[in-house]
Amino acid sequence: MPTETNYDRSLGRKFVFVTGGVMSGLGKGITAASTGRLLANAGFDVTAVKIDPYLNVDAGTMNPYQHGEVYVLKDGAEVDLDLGNYERFLGTDMTADHNITTGKAYEHVISKERAGDYLGDTVQIIPHITNDIKRRVRKAAEGTDVCIVEVGGTVGDIEGMPFLEAIRQFVHETPPEDLLLTHVTLVPFSKNGEQKTKPTQHSVKELRSIGLQPDILVGRSEEKLDPDTKEKIALFCDVPTEAVFSNPDVADIYHVPLMVEEEGLDRYVIEELDLASEAPPQAERTERWRELVTQESDEQVDIALVGKYALEDAYISIHEALKHAGLDRSVEVTVHWVNADRMDADHEQRLQDADGVVVPGGFGSRGSAGKIEAIRYAREHDVPFLGLCLGFQMGVVEYARNVLELEGAHSAEIDSATPHPVIGLLPNQLGEEDLGGTMRLGAHETDIDPDTLASAIYGGTSCTERHRHRYEVNPEYIAALEAGGLRFSGRSDRRMEILELPEHPYFLGTQFHPEFRSRPGRASPPFVGLLDAALESSTENDEGERGNESRSEGDRSSTAAAEPTESL
Ligand code: GLN
Repeated sequence: MPTETNYDRSLGRKFVFVTGGVMSGLGKGITAASTGRLLANAGFDVTAVKIDPYLNVDAGTMNPYQHGEVYVLKDGAEVDLDLGNYERFLGTDMTADHNITTGKAYEHVISKERAGDYLGDTVQIIPHITNDIKRRVRKAAEGTDVCIVEVGGTVGDIEGMPFLEAIRQFVHETPPEDLLLTHVTLVPFSKNGEQKTKPTQHSVKELRSIGLQPDILVGRSEEKLDPDTKEKIALFCDVPTEAVFSNPDVADIYHVPLMVEEEGLDRYVIEELDLASEAPPQAERTERWRELVTQESDEQVDIALVGKYALEDAYISIHEALKHAGLDRSVEVTVHWVNADRMDADHEQRLQDADGVVVPGGFGSRGSAGKIEAIRYAREHDVPFLGLCLGFQMGVVEYARNVLELEGAHSAEIDSATPHPVIGLLPNQLGEEDLGGTMRLGAHETDIDPDTLASAIYGGTSCTERHRHRYEVNPEYIAALEAGGLRFSGRSDRRMEILELPEHPYFLGTQFHPEFRSRPGRASPPFVGLLDAALESSTENDEGERGNESRSEGDRSSTAAAEPTESL
């Protein structure tokens, strides 16, 4: 049988595979990311791979209602939102190679088969697909100390089988001290408060039936596992008792690494992977992370998020970016969802009660009218506003309609017959090929004008942020919009990237998505700026002073985020 996998430590030294049992949605990704964070705290170079056993090649076209937000990496890959959690927990940037899907593996193998690369072989799931999976995992791990590999879905799903078989082979080919298998399961409580281990036993049995014996078991539950429960799981699932860990519900995901550390997960993993001689003493490891994520908040602000999805996961990176900004400023941020699609009295009230407004990105027309109304409200009432991607575009539309009085102005994406397509596809005369139909993805640099709000918050005249859009500000309207008072303070060649309103306390729109680069310890400048302005407006509000008068340039200094704090 052909094998492409002679063991080579330069392609990743150590691997921690993470599978899930009993049911999905257990927070397996957070458990995996927390394991990675603990290893990073101990000074190891850690990366992660997310395996998604679906046939889509990538997450680009996936509906946020089913899968939550589509996350964008710096290389422009559109990936599962779990990669966002890994980037935020590990503080590293990943690439398309770090998201492996069934679609990618099959697409590659089938195209090789069509090209005649298999020389008459029968092309099969084993070994061709499994070899491709192993090759991809090793490639993503190249040059790192530890690679965390999370397998999406639940053990027993048909879709996951080729991946679990690839892991079985991986285990077979790898020295035992270089690999751990963590299985995350559910430990429910019975009505009389007893912790039930049967679902865990069954899911481990399922895992063993395909040749995988877990090294570590993590029980997700409402509360910590009792010592008796741990012993029972250990006995029936054939792992040492000290390899059974609790992962009870916590209010803040960034506290999970601290909690599993308390249970000794990092010590166990480091010892089992034979890394103890390279790690600093336990007491020194988690200090910085603890400091970073357990700040006391002295103040609180309310932010309205005006979107069309009620699901928090659909805007997860924005929620996290607001949280990071809050950590940076020791402010507790409460996000209130305002339904852009149906803004009833209750939701209108939420908008009016907010200290700041965020209008997120999106595709299609649903909710655009509500977004435009919310932007108008923020502009006219001096409420701090941050518009992201579609939120930026709707900011242009709102200004064109209500200030420039260009009746019916819109984005060509939403109203193809608009008399004023202030947002449209860029004409090909820019000299770039195929611009019209393609999506602009990934990290691109923006030049920022000096002496603007944008330059104050970024602390300089350029920024590099991630993009995911197709439409642009229509060059034919730029002069009129600027003459009317809207300022495009950031550009990338002839593309408008940042807008602001000089007369407003904080009115900022970005064609890019700054939320994708935000990390604990490296908050995103537009979000920190929003929070500072919201804080000021909330104080003014408390004093009953929110007025319509504009503020002078000098007031801006307080919004400057300047140099972001050092990332972990
Ligand atoms: N739908 C808009 C575009 O394609 C905005 C995209 C977004 O908000 N991510 O340009």
